[in-house]
Amino acid sequence: MKDVKDRNAVIEDTLEYWQKILRLSEWKIETITNAHLHPKEKWGEIKIFDNIFRAEMHISTLCPEEDIQEVVIHELLHLLTFPIRQFFYKTLQELTRPQEGKIIADEVTAKDEKLLGNLALSFLEMKKQRIPKDEIAEVIKRQK
Ligand SMILES: [Zn+2]
Repeated sequence: MKDVKDRNAVIEDTLEYWQKILRLSEWKIETITNAHLHPKEKWGEIKIFDNIFRAEMHISTLCPEEDIQEVVIHELLHLLTFPIRQFFYKTLQELTRPQEGKIIADEVTAKDEKLLGNLALSFLEMKKQRIPKDEIAEVIKRQK
């Protein structure tokens, strides 16, 4: 097991890399790497400060190093769906009674989590299998 300083460096580098890939470089993200999150299975969390492009990413001390990348991508993806979620919850509040609204909101939250989980795995997979440039050009040509 690497020491804490090395682990933090890995997290910082991973964050910077994926912020670029996901076009989220304008965000100022503070990482908190000694988080004790509950429930235990949860390895990451992101707190988003609305409208000012600031966020706090918490990575659990229990998160294994081989899973850091997946957690960082997942948490970053939350920034991309955040405006949609905000709009949705606001509209939901206006149009439904609180109890109905909560059931719908919970359902959408679960679907959002599942979507982001799958996307994070897809990004990782794509990173592993660097697709050759000519192959990409070929696929684009075929779609036209
Ligand atoms: Zn999540």
